[in-house]
Amino acid sequence: MYEFAVTPAVTQLRRPGVIITEVTPDSLAEELELQPNDRIVRVNGRPVRDYLDFRFQTAGETELTFQVKKTNGETHDIEFDRHEGEDLGLMFEQIVPRQCANECIFCFCKGNPEDARPSLFVRDEDIRLSFLYGNYTTLSSITEDEMKRIIEQRLSPQYVSVHATDLKTRAYLLGVDESRADISDKLERLLAADIELHAQVVLCPEINDGAILEKTLRDLAAHYPKVVSTAVVPVALTRYNKDERLTRVTPEFCRRTIKEVEKLQKEFRKTLGVTFAFLGDEIYIKAGAEIPSRRHYGNYPQIEDGVGMVRSFVNAFEKALVRTGTDSDRIPANVRTHAAAIVPKNGGKAASTNKKPIATVPGSDLFGTFLTGEMFAPILREEIDKYNALTGSRLNVIAVPNTYFGGDVAVAGLLTGQDLLAMRDKIVGDFVVIPKATIKSDEPIFLDGMTYDALRAKFSVPVYDVDTQGLIDLLSN
Ligand code: SF4
Repeated sequence: MYEFAVTPAVTQLRRPGVIITEVTPDSLAEELELQPNDRIVRVNGRPVRDYLDFRFQTAGETELTFQVKKTNGETHDIEFDRHEGEDLGLMFEQIVPRQCANECIFCFCKGNPEDARPSLFVRDEDIRLSFLYGNYTTLSSITEDEMKRIIEQRLSPQYVSVHATDLKTRAYLLGVDESRADISDKLERLLAADIELHAQVVLCPEINDGAILEKTLRDLAAHYPKVVSTAVVPVALTRYNKDERLTRVTPEFCRRTIKEVEKLQKEFRKTLGVTFAFLGDEIYIKAGAEIPSRRHYGNYPQIEDGVGMVRSFVNAFEKALVRTGTDSDRIPANVRTHAAAIVPKNGGKAASTNKKPIATVPGSDLFGTFLTGEMFAPILREEIDKYNALTGSRLNVIAVPNTYFGGDVAVAGLLTGQDLLAMRDKIVGDFVVIPKATIKSDEPIFLDGMTYDALRAKFSVPVYDVDTQGLIDLLSN
């Protein structure tokens, strides 16, 4: 689930150009008297729609003319030269996501409580965000302009929610007619233009599983290596999803799926040399099955989709345990975020307000509580128990039920402030650690609207937020 700031621009026509949000002191942009809120409308005569256009049209150019609309309504042409590769010193507004035109039966928006934050109802479907942040799109309502843009600006890779290559099934899942659901020509065109694709299947029992899933994975694997990988993730239904067409994912269903997909994975490893089709961690955990080995995941192409996250964490943690006090292995996070993506000033890390590192508590005396989702808790507990045995620490792991969304939602990242707060009386020790992913990336606020400060004020011990890598770093220092 991705969140975006909801601005009036989502529903209003966008004005042309891209708005400057920051000008670096002593930069070329400052010398040119560019200012925050100026809008760059054209670069060398070509229109600019957003900062991706800006990057594309300025890349490699040393002689530039900007048409700039100032806040007082005046328009100026600014002509200048720059050295090759010289940074202009500009930051721009984020891209406002384009909205999807689907009615997916499993859409996360239908699983939100009615009073959830407006940003949780944003149905983004944007090829620019797919390229920049690895957001999935269905391509079902992609325009000719967008197709051309992907190819011309090399917005590769793209992340595509395929769900099923069987057309009837895809149309049913997306809630659109078959002509809209049919993206075969578009996929072929992108692949022919050497655009790489990563695919996703949201697996819905009795709809796109079994033979339909096998066909989907075989059809996609036929395009390897241009279709680089496919993630198969289980549909997660909250207590608000009442659609009778949907069946909840059970442990038995997960065991059957693992068995079926393992056969294909074996075949792909033989014919393609890679696993190609990856099952989400949740499927293994729900099935009570062993998480596959490091080799299974290759370079973890779908880790941000919850595929291989557990394996990478366990491996990195265990290595850190062996070498406590030295650098741990790194978890391959954010592999889908493109270098060209604008990241918040804090470097893209969650809007953490950690005031003092826990590491100031003497290493062998650590006494505190980790709160995490029910899915990850048993895995974390096993690792933390080993750490306690090794160091004499008294760290405790609590599995926090997700009462806000309810249903099958058990991942750490969707815990809300009220879920975490409900654990207050169970906390032991000198501090509490919560998953960083529960906090909005650019604002210290939880999914239910509770602020981080409000949560902290209700705990009698300090609250820290860490991601899985941060947790390893913390315990290995
Ligand atoms: S593509 Fe489907 S799941 Fe995604 S936002 Fe649109 S309706 Fe929801």
